[in-house]
Amino acid sequence: MNAHQQLKNISIQQEHVPGAQSVRSWRRFSQYMVIFILVVIPLSGLFRIDTMSGAFHMLDYQVWFADMSIIMGFWIMLAALLIFMYSWSGAVFCGWVCPQNTLSEWANNMTSKLLGRRAIMMDVTGKKMQVAIRKDIWLNKLTLGISFLLVSMLFAIIPLLYFFSPEMIGAFLTFQDVPDAKNLLWIYVVCTLVVLVDVTVMRHLVCKYMCVYRVWQHSFKTRETLHIAYDEGRSDHCQNCHYCEDSCFLDIDPRQTVVFDSCINCGDCVAACDTLHSKSKKMDGPGLLSFSFGQEKEGKNGLTSLLSRTRAASVGAMIGAIWFSVGIVGYQPYVLLADRAELLQGTTANDYRINVSNKRYRAADMQLEIEGLKESEYTLDSSMVRWQTAGRKDVIMHISPTLDKGLHRFTVHARTSDGWRDDFTVYHYAQGMMKAGS
Ligand code: SF4
Ligand code: SF4
Repeated sequence: MNAHQQLKNISIQQEHVPGAQSVRSWRRFSQYMVIFILVVIPLSGLFRIDTMSGAFHMLDYQVWFADMSIIMGFWIMLAALLIFMYSWSGAVFCGWVCPQNTLSEWANNMTSKLLGRRAIMMDVTGKKMQVAIRKDIWLNKLTLGISFLLVSMLFAIIPLLYFFSPEMIGAFLTFQDVPDAKNLLWIYVVCTLVVLVDVTVMRHLVCKYMCVYRVWQHSFKTRETLHIAYDEGRSDHCQNCHYCEDSCFLDIDPRQTVVFDSCINCGDCVAACDTLHSKSKKMDGPGLLSFSFGQEKEGKNGLTSLLSRTRAASVGAMIGAIWFSVGIVGYQPYVLLADRAELLQGTTANDYRINVSNKRYRAADMQLEIEGLKESEYTLDSSMVRWQTAGRKDVIMHISPTLDKGLHRFTVHARTSDGWRDDFTVYHYAQGMMKAGS
Protein backbone atom coordinates (compact mmCIF):
# COMPACT_ATOMS: atom_id res chain seq x y z
CA MET A 1 0.00 0.00 0.00
CA ASN A 2 1.53 3.35 -0.99
CA ALA A 3 1.61 6.47 1.17
CA HIS A 4 -1.35 8.04 -0.60
CA GLN A 5 -3.56 5.00 0.07
CA GLN A 6 -2.42 4.91 3.70
CA LEU A 7 -3.45 8.52 4.15
CA LYS A 8 -6.78 8.01 2.48
CA ASN A 9 -7.52 5.18 4.86
CA ILE A 10 -7.10 7.36 7.89
CA SER A 11 -10.41 8.49 9.29
CA ILE A 12 -9.92 12.05 10.44
CA GLN A 13 -12.11 12.81 13.41
CA GLN A 14 -10.10 15.40 15.21
CA GLU A 15 -12.51 15.71 18.09
CA HIS A 16 -11.68 12.19 19.24
CA VAL A 17 -7.91 12.48 19.28
CA PRO A 18 -6.59 13.48 22.68
CA GLY A 19 -3.46 15.61 22.82
CA ALA A 20 -3.52 16.70 19.20
CA GLN A 21 -6.39 19.02 19.96
CA SER A 22 -4.63 20.89 22.72
CA VAL A 23 -3.52 23.83 20.55
CA ARG A 24 -6.98 24.22 19.11
CA SER A 25 -8.63 23.89 22.53
CA TRP A 26 -6.37 26.54 24.03
CA ARG A 27 -7.04 28.80 21.10
CA ARG A 28 -10.79 28.42 21.44
CA PHE A 29 -10.48 29.09 25.17
CA SER A 30 -8.47 32.23 24.45
CA GLN A 31 -10.96 33.44 21.80
CA TYR A 32 -14.02 32.95 24.02
CA MET A 33 -12.24 34.45 27.04
CA VAL A 34 -11.51 37.58 24.99
CA ILE A 35 -15.19 37.97 24.15
CA PHE A 36 -16.10 37.40 27.78
CA ILE A 37 -13.57 40.04 28.86
CA LEU A 38 -14.84 42.47 26.21
CA VAL A 39 -18.29 42.20 27.80
CA VAL A 40 -17.07 42.33 31.40
CA ILE A 41 -14.89 45.45 30.92
CA PRO A 42 -17.75 47.93 30.31
CA LEU A 43 -20.23 46.11 32.56
CA SER A 44 -17.83 46.23 35.51
CA GLY A 45 -17.21 49.95 34.95
CA LEU A 46 -13.53 49.33 34.21
CA PHE A 47 -13.70 51.25 30.96
CA ARG A 48 -16.37 53.04 28.97
CA ILE A 49 -16.58 56.15 26.82
CA ASP A 50 -18.76 58.83 28.36
CA THR A 51 -20.13 60.45 25.23
CA MET A 52 -22.11 63.07 27.16
CA SER A 53 -18.96 64.42 28.89
CA GLY A 54 -16.43 63.62 26.14
CA ALA A 55 -14.35 61.62 28.61
CA PHE A 56 -13.39 58.08 29.50
CA HIS A 57 -15.23 56.42 32.35
CA MET A 58 -12.77 54.27 34.31
CA LEU A 59 -13.71 52.62 37.60
CA ASP A 60 -16.16 55.38 38.51
CA TYR A 61 -13.64 58.09 37.65
CA GLN A 62 -13.74 60.39 34.66
CA VAL A 63 -10.51 60.58 32.72
CA TRP A 64 -10.43 63.62 30.46
CA PHE A 65 -8.42 63.94 27.30
CA ALA A 66 -6.63 66.69 29.24
CA ASP A 67 -5.34 64.03 31.69
CA MET A 68 -2.38 63.59 29.37
CA SER A 69 -0.20 61.52 31.69
CA ILE A 70 -2.85 58.87 32.12
CA ILE A 71 -3.92 58.75 28.49
CA MET A 72 -0.52 59.03 26.83
CA GLY A 73 1.17 56.82 29.43
CA PHE A 74 -1.46 54.13 28.93
CA TRP A 75 -1.27 54.21 25.12
CA ILE A 76 2.52 54.22 25.06
CA MET A 77 2.56 51.27 27.46
CA LEU A 78 -0.06 49.38 25.43
CA ALA A 79 1.57 50.14 22.06
CA ALA A 80 4.99 49.02 23.35
CA LEU A 81 3.56 45.80 24.79
CA LEU A 82 1.80 45.09 21.49
CA ILE A 83 5.01 45.70 19.53
CA PHE A 84 6.73 43.33 21.95
CA MET A 85 4.04 40.75 21.20
CA TYR A 86 4.24 41.21 17.40
CA SER A 87 8.03 40.83 17.49
CA TRP A 88 7.82 37.65 19.53
CA SER A 89 4.78 35.95 18.15
CA GLY A 90 3.87 37.65 14.87
CA ALA A 91 0.19 38.06 14.10
CA VAL A 92 -0.86 35.78 16.93
CA PHE A 93 -3.47 38.40 17.87
CA CYS A 94 -5.49 37.46 14.76
CA GLY A 95 -5.69 33.77 15.57
CA TRP A 96 -6.02 33.88 19.35
CA VAL A 97 -7.66 37.20 20.21
CA CYS A 98 -9.42 38.96 17.32
CA PRO A 99 -13.24 38.73 17.76
CA GLN A 100 -13.73 39.20 14.02
CA ASN A 101 -11.80 36.01 13.39
CA THR A 102 -13.66 34.22 16.19
CA LEU A 103 -16.96 35.13 14.56
CA SER A 104 -15.68 34.12 11.12
CA GLU A 105 -14.52 30.75 12.37
CA TRP A 106 -17.82 30.19 14.16
CA ALA A 107 -19.70 31.09 10.94
CA ASN A 108 -17.49 28.69 8.95
CA ASN A 109 -18.14 25.86 11.41
CA MET A 110 -21.89 26.44 11.34
CA THR A 111 -21.90 26.60 7.53
CA SER A 112 -19.79 23.46 7.28
CA LYS A 113 -22.13 21.57 9.61
CA LEU A 114 -25.34 22.68 7.94
CA LEU A 115 -24.38 23.08 4.28
CA GLY A 116 -21.16 21.12 3.88
CA ARG A 117 -17.49 21.95 3.90
CA ARG A 118 -17.38 23.37 0.37
CA ALA A 119 -20.01 25.96 1.28
CA ILE A 120 -17.49 27.86 3.40
CA MET A 121 -15.16 28.51 0.50
CA MET A 122 -15.72 32.16 -0.29
CA ASP A 123 -13.70 34.24 -2.67
CA VAL A 124 -13.86 37.67 -4.26
CA THR A 125 -14.75 36.31 -7.72
CA GLY A 126 -18.38 35.85 -6.70
CA LYS A 127 -18.26 32.09 -7.31
CA LYS A 128 -21.52 30.43 -6.27
CA MET A 129 -21.58 28.72 -2.91
CA GLN A 130 -21.32 24.93 -3.24
CA VAL A 131 -23.81 23.27 -0.94
CA ALA A 132 -23.47 19.52 -0.29
CA ILE A 133 -26.29 17.72 -2.09
CA ARG A 134 -27.54 15.83 0.96
CA LYS A 135 -27.56 19.04 3.05
CA ASP A 136 -29.26 21.21 0.44
CA ILE A 137 -32.57 21.48 2.28
CA TRP A 138 -34.46 24.61 3.32
CA LEU A 139 -34.47 23.67 7.01
CA ASN A 140 -30.66 23.76 7.13
CA LYS A 141 -30.55 27.10 5.34
CA LEU A 142 -33.22 28.55 7.60
CA THR A 143 -31.42 27.31 10.74
CA LEU A 144 -28.18 28.85 9.47
CA GLY A 145 -29.87 32.17 8.66
CA ILE A 146 -31.58 32.38 12.06
CA SER A 147 -28.41 31.49 13.96
CA PHE A 148 -26.49 34.18 12.02
CA LEU A 149 -29.16 36.75 12.84
CA LEU A 150 -29.33 35.86 16.54
CA VAL A 151 -25.56 35.91 16.97
CA SER A 152 -25.37 39.24 15.09
CA MET A 153 -28.02 40.72 17.39
CA LEU A 154 -26.09 39.48 20.41
CA PHE A 155 -22.69 40.71 19.22
CA ALA A 156 -24.09 44.11 18.24
CA ILE A 157 -24.75 44.80 21.92
CA ILE A 158 -21.02 44.65 22.78
CA PRO A 159 -19.96 47.94 21.12
CA LEU A 160 -23.00 49.68 22.64
CA LEU A 161 -21.82 48.69 26.12
CA TYR A 162 -18.76 50.89 25.56
CA PHE A 163 -20.84 54.00 24.87
CA PHE A 164 -23.95 53.63 27.01
CA SER A 165 -24.40 52.72 30.66
CA PRO A 166 -25.53 49.18 31.52
CA GLU A 167 -28.75 50.72 32.89
CA MET A 168 -29.49 52.33 29.52
CA ILE A 169 -28.71 49.12 27.65
CA GLY A 170 -30.86 47.16 30.11
CA ALA A 171 -33.77 49.55 29.60
CA PHE A 172 -33.32 49.40 25.83
CA LEU A 173 -33.27 45.59 25.76
CA THR A 174 -36.41 45.41 27.87
CA PHE A 175 -38.21 47.80 25.48
CA GLN A 176 -38.33 50.71 27.93
CA ASP A 177 -37.98 54.33 26.93
CA VAL A 178 -34.38 55.62 27.01
CA PRO A 179 -34.73 59.44 26.95
CA ASP A 180 -30.96 60.09 27.04
CA ALA A 181 -30.30 57.92 23.99
CA LYS A 182 -33.01 58.48 21.42
CA ASN A 183 -30.90 57.08 18.55
CA LEU A 184 -29.94 53.90 20.36
CA LEU A 185 -32.28 51.76 18.25
CA TRP A 186 -30.74 52.99 14.99
CA ILE A 187 -27.21 52.56 16.26
CA TYR A 188 -28.10 49.02 17.33
CA VAL A 189 -29.68 48.22 13.94
CA VAL A 190 -26.57 49.46 12.12
CA CYS A 191 -24.28 47.42 14.42
CA THR A 192 -26.44 44.31 13.87
CA LEU A 193 -26.33 44.75 10.09
CA VAL A 194 -22.55 45.19 10.11
CA VAL A 195 -22.07 41.96 12.10
CA LEU A 196 -24.62 40.15 9.95
CA VAL A 197 -22.87 41.11 6.71
CA ASP A 198 -19.58 40.06 8.28
CA VAL A 199 -20.73 36.56 9.28
CA THR A 200 -22.73 35.87 6.13
CA VAL A 201 -20.51 37.13 3.32
CA MET A 202 -17.25 38.65 4.57
CA ARG A 203 -15.66 36.45 7.24
CA HIS A 204 -11.99 35.84 6.42
CA LEU A 205 -12.14 38.04 3.32
CA VAL A 206 -11.79 40.87 5.83
CA CYS A 207 -8.58 39.28 7.15
CA LYS A 208 -7.21 38.60 3.69
CA TYR A 209 -8.04 41.82 1.88
CA MET A 210 -9.16 44.54 4.26
CA CYS A 211 -7.50 44.32 7.64
CA VAL A 212 -4.83 47.02 7.97
CA TYR A 213 -4.07 45.92 11.52
CA ARG A 214 -2.86 42.53 10.24
CA VAL A 215 -0.43 44.27 7.85
CA TRP A 216 0.78 46.46 10.74
CA GLN A 217 1.49 43.37 12.87
CA HIS A 218 3.34 41.66 10.04
CA SER A 219 5.65 44.63 9.69
CA PHE A 220 7.30 43.63 13.01
CA LYS A 221 7.98 40.02 11.97
CA THR A 222 11.50 38.78 11.42
CA ARG A 223 13.08 35.39 10.81
CA GLU A 224 13.26 34.99 14.59
CA THR A 225 9.56 35.57 15.24
CA LEU A 226 7.41 32.60 16.23
CA HIS A 227 6.46 30.66 13.10
CA ILE A 228 5.46 27.24 11.83
CA ALA A 229 8.46 24.96 11.35
CA TYR A 230 8.36 21.96 9.03
CA ASP A 231 10.36 18.79 9.58
CA GLU A 232 11.72 18.32 6.07
CA GLY A 233 13.68 15.23 7.15
CA ARG A 234 10.41 13.28 7.22
CA SER A 235 8.83 14.88 4.16
CA ASP A 236 8.08 11.44 2.75
CA HIS A 237 5.04 11.47 5.09
CA CYS A 238 3.54 14.22 2.97
CA GLN A 239 3.18 12.33 -0.28
CA ASN A 240 -0.23 13.28 -1.68
CA CYS A 241 -1.30 14.70 1.68
CA HIS A 242 -2.56 18.26 1.93
CA TYR A 243 -4.38 17.95 5.20
CA CYS A 244 -2.50 20.79 6.89
CA GLU A 245 -3.01 23.02 3.86
CA ASP A 246 -6.71 22.21 3.78
CA SER A 247 -7.02 22.99 7.48
CA CYS A 248 -5.60 26.49 7.02
CA PHE A 249 -8.43 28.99 6.65
CA LEU A 250 -5.98 31.49 5.16
CA ASP A 251 -5.02 29.14 2.31
CA ILE A 252 -1.35 28.95 3.27
CA ASP A 253 0.79 25.87 2.75
CA PRO A 254 2.23 25.53 6.29
CA ARG A 255 5.17 23.53 4.95
CA GLN A 256 6.46 26.62 3.18
CA THR A 257 5.84 29.53 5.49
CA VAL A 258 7.96 32.61 4.90
CA VAL A 259 8.58 35.71 7.00
CA PHE A 260 6.00 37.96 5.31
CA ASP A 261 3.19 35.52 4.63
CA SER A 262 -0.28 35.77 6.14
CA CYS A 263 0.20 33.11 8.82
CA ILE A 264 -1.40 34.07 12.12
CA ASN A 265 0.08 31.24 14.19
CA CYS A 266 -3.33 29.80 14.93
CA GLY A 267 -1.82 26.30 15.12
CA ASP A 268 -4.65 24.55 13.25
CA CYS A 269 -2.18 23.02 10.80
CA VAL A 270 -0.02 21.75 13.70
CA ALA A 271 -3.10 20.16 15.26
CA ALA A 272 -4.10 18.70 11.88
CA CYS A 273 -0.75 17.01 11.26
CA ASP A 274 -0.53 15.81 14.87
CA THR A 275 -3.99 14.32 14.50
CA LEU A 276 -2.97 12.57 11.32
CA HIS A 277 0.11 11.08 12.92
CA SER A 278 -1.63 10.01 16.09
CA LYS A 279 -4.25 8.16 14.03
CA SER A 280 -1.82 6.48 11.66
CA LYS A 281 0.14 3.37 12.62
CA LYS A 282 2.38 3.81 9.57
CA MET A 283 3.52 7.34 10.39
CA ASP A 284 6.04 7.32 13.18
CA GLY A 285 6.68 10.17 15.59
CA PRO A 286 4.76 13.37 16.14
CA GLY A 287 3.43 15.61 13.37
CA LEU A 288 5.81 17.34 11.01
CA LEU A 289 4.72 20.82 11.95
CA SER A 290 5.49 22.70 15.13
CA PHE A 291 5.85 26.22 16.49
CA SER A 292 9.40 27.52 16.47
CA PHE A 293 11.48 30.64 17.08
CA GLY A 294 14.51 31.43 14.94
CA GLN A 295 16.09 29.50 12.13
CA GLU A 296 17.05 26.17 13.60
CA LYS A 297 18.53 24.96 10.34
CA GLU A 298 21.21 27.62 10.50
CA GLY A 299 21.95 26.84 14.13
CA LYS A 300 21.24 30.40 15.23
CA ASN A 301 19.83 31.25 18.58
CA GLY A 302 16.74 33.15 17.54
CA LEU A 303 15.81 34.07 21.09
CA THR A 304 19.00 36.08 21.59
CA SER A 305 18.32 38.17 18.53
CA LEU A 306 14.68 38.52 19.47
CA LEU A 307 15.56 39.74 22.95
CA SER A 308 17.72 42.49 21.54
CA ARG A 309 14.93 43.49 19.15
CA THR A 310 12.36 43.69 21.88
CA ARG A 311 14.59 45.70 24.21
CA ALA A 312 13.33 48.97 22.72
CA ALA A 313 9.72 47.85 23.14
CA SER A 314 10.41 46.89 26.77
CA VAL A 315 11.93 50.30 27.48
CA GLY A 316 8.92 51.97 25.81
CA ALA A 317 6.54 49.90 27.95
CA MET A 318 8.41 50.91 31.08
CA ILE A 319 8.36 54.62 30.17
CA GLY A 320 4.63 54.36 29.44
CA ALA A 321 4.01 52.58 32.76
CA ILE A 322 5.93 55.26 34.71
CA TRP A 323 4.11 58.08 32.93
CA PHE A 324 0.79 56.36 33.52
CA SER A 325 1.60 55.89 37.23
CA VAL A 326 2.53 59.55 37.56
CA GLY A 327 -0.84 60.44 36.02
CA ILE A 328 -2.72 58.14 38.41
CA VAL A 329 -0.91 59.51 41.48
CA GLY A 330 -1.50 63.13 40.40
CA TYR A 331 -5.13 62.56 39.39
CA GLN A 332 -7.46 65.35 40.56
CA PRO A 333 -11.05 64.24 41.24
CA TYR A 334 -12.32 67.83 41.03
CA VAL A 335 -11.38 70.78 38.82
CA LEU A 336 -11.67 74.48 39.52
CA LEU A 337 -11.34 77.11 36.78
CA ALA A 338 -12.36 80.77 36.50
CA ASP A 339 -12.48 83.09 33.54
CA ARG A 340 -14.46 86.01 32.21
CA ALA A 341 -18.07 85.24 31.51
CA GLU A 342 -18.40 87.81 28.74
CA LEU A 343 -19.56 85.27 26.17
CA LEU A 344 -22.37 83.96 28.33
CA GLN A 345 -25.80 85.39 27.80
CA GLY A 346 -26.79 88.12 30.25
CA THR A 347 -23.31 88.70 31.63
CA THR A 348 -21.15 91.83 31.67
CA ALA A 349 -17.44 92.62 31.69
CA ASN A 350 -17.61 92.50 35.51
CA ASP A 351 -18.82 88.90 35.59
CA TYR A 352 -16.68 85.83 35.99
CA ARG A 353 -17.56 82.21 35.33
CA ILE A 354 -16.33 79.82 38.01
CA ASN A 355 -16.34 76.44 36.31
CA VAL A 356 -16.20 73.45 38.67
CA SER A 357 -16.19 69.76 37.80
CA ASN A 358 -16.78 66.57 39.71
CA LYS A 359 -14.85 63.77 37.96
CA ARG A 360 -16.25 60.97 40.07
CA TYR A 361 -19.50 59.21 39.31
CA ARG A 362 -20.90 59.85 42.76
CA ALA A 363 -22.60 62.66 44.69
CA ALA A 364 -20.39 65.52 45.90
CA ASP A 365 -20.58 69.01 47.47
CA MET A 366 -18.15 71.86 46.88
CA GLN A 367 -17.91 75.05 48.96
CA LEU A 368 -16.70 78.23 47.18
CA GLU A 369 -15.15 81.26 48.89
CA ILE A 370 -13.62 84.45 47.56
CA GLU A 371 -10.56 86.04 49.11
CA GLY A 372 -9.15 89.45 48.15
CA LEU A 373 -12.44 91.32 47.70
CA LYS A 374 -14.79 92.68 50.34
CA GLU A 375 -18.17 90.95 50.55
CA SER A 376 -19.83 94.16 49.35
CA GLU A 377 -17.69 94.13 46.19
CA TYR A 378 -19.01 90.92 44.66
CA THR A 379 -21.87 88.45 44.69
CA LEU A 380 -21.77 84.74 43.96
CA ASP A 381 -24.79 83.05 42.39
CA SER A 382 -24.14 80.23 44.82
CA SER A 383 -21.41 79.40 47.28
CA MET A 384 -22.29 75.70 47.36
CA VAL A 385 -22.25 73.39 44.34
CA ARG A 386 -23.88 69.98 44.53
CA TRP A 387 -23.66 67.05 42.11
CA GLN A 388 -25.55 63.78 42.05
CA THR A 389 -22.88 62.31 39.76
CA ALA A 390 -19.91 63.40 37.63
CA GLY A 391 -20.41 66.64 35.74
CA ARG A 392 -19.48 70.29 35.23
CA LYS A 393 -21.24 73.35 36.61
CA ASP A 394 -20.86 77.08 36.28
CA VAL A 395 -21.22 79.59 39.11
CA ILE A 396 -21.34 83.23 38.03
CA MET A 397 -19.52 85.80 40.14
CA HIS A 398 -20.65 89.40 39.69
CA ILE A 399 -18.13 92.09 40.61
CA SER A 400 -19.56 95.36 41.68
CA PRO A 401 -19.22 98.16 39.09
CA THR A 402 -18.42 100.49 41.99
CA LEU A 403 -15.10 98.75 42.59
CA ASP A 404 -12.25 101.24 42.65
CA LYS A 405 -10.51 101.76 39.33
CA GLY A 406 -7.36 99.67 38.99
CA LEU A 407 -6.05 96.13 39.10
CA HIS A 408 -7.52 93.83 41.74
CA ARG A 409 -6.32 90.39 42.64
CA PHE A 410 -8.74 87.88 44.11
CA THR A 411 -8.60 84.15 44.74
CA VAL A 412 -11.37 81.59 44.45
CA HIS A 413 -11.05 78.89 47.11
CA ALA A 414 -12.85 75.58 46.61
CA ARG A 415 -13.11 72.72 49.06
CA THR A 416 -15.15 69.55 49.16
CA SER A 417 -16.51 67.48 52.02
CA ASP A 418 -14.02 64.70 51.28
CA GLY A 419 -11.03 66.99 51.91
CA TRP A 420 -10.06 68.12 48.41
CA ARG A 421 -9.20 71.83 48.05
CA ASP A 422 -7.82 74.10 45.38
CA ASP A 423 -7.37 77.83 44.60
CA PHE A 424 -7.63 79.86 41.45
CA THR A 425 -6.27 83.40 41.32
CA VAL A 426 -7.74 86.02 39.00
CA TYR A 427 -6.57 89.56 38.14
CA HIS A 428 -9.44 91.91 37.44
CA TYR A 429 -9.04 95.42 36.03
CA ALA A 430 -11.88 97.62 37.27
CA GLN A 431 -12.87 100.58 35.10
CA GLY A 432 -14.30 102.44 38.09
CA MET A 433 -17.76 104.02 38.27
CA MET A 434 -18.33 106.67 35.55
CA LYS A 435 -19.05 109.97 37.26
CA ALA A 436 -22.20 111.82 36.23
CA GLY A 437 -21.41 114.44 33.54
CA SER A 438 -17.90 113.17 32.90
S1 SF4 B 1 2.81 18.32 7.09
FE1 SF4 B 1 1.46 16.72 7.94
S2 SF4 B 1 -0.61 17.35 7.35
FE2 SF4 B 1 0.82 18.54 6.10
S3 SF4 B 1 1.03 17.39 4.21
FE3 SF4 B 1 2.68 16.69 5.58
S4 SF4 B 1 1.84 14.95 6.66
FE4 SF4 B 1 0.10 16.00 5.72
S1 SF4 C 1 -0.29 28.17 8.30
FE1 SF4 C 1 -1.05 27.05 10.09
S2 SF4 C 1 -0.70 28.44 11.83
FE2 SF4 C 1 -0.54 29.64 9.93
S3 SF4 C 1 -2.60 30.47 9.62
FE3 SF4 C 1 -2.47 28.56 8.44
S4 SF4 C 1 -3.26 27.00 9.84
FE4 SF4 C 1 -2.80 28.80 11.09
